Amino acid sequence: MTDCLFCKIVAKEIPATVVLETDRTLAFRDVDPQAPTHVLVVPKAHHEDAAALGGAGGGLAGEVLATAHAVAVQEGVADTGYRLVFNTGPGAGQTVPHVHAHVLGGRGLTWPPG
Ligand code: AMP
Repeated sequence: MTDCLFCKIVAKEIPATVVLETDRTLAFRDVDPQAPTHVLVVPKAHHEDAAALGGAGGGLAGEVLATAHAVAVQEGVADTGYRLVFNTGPGAGQTVPHVHAHVLGGRGLTWPPG
């Protein structure tokens, strides 16, 4: 998609701090971190939201989750616990319409979130 921020990051047209990359996924640090570890994991292919990702087939949703877990291991938060968030739709706070998992960790994460 030509006018998508995260497609441009995937295409390396916009810089990002990449922490992990696989054939079909990219993980990079959020520019406005809400926790000591705050990484976004995206499929390289454009899918608007979690529903679209779930319908994409081919194991892509599972690969996004596997990359998210690999990021948590790499960041050293897998053992203490981490949170995955897919804001889905503008009413839930999704501001970038290219599906992304927020990987949050490194501090006490209360539930329910504030
Ligand atoms: P959401 O509100 O769930 O759509 O999340 C979008 C996230 O993208 C926010 O946490 C932003 O801080 C983050 N973000 C926006 N622009 C960039 C960028 N250029 N590089 C990295 N993260 C970004």
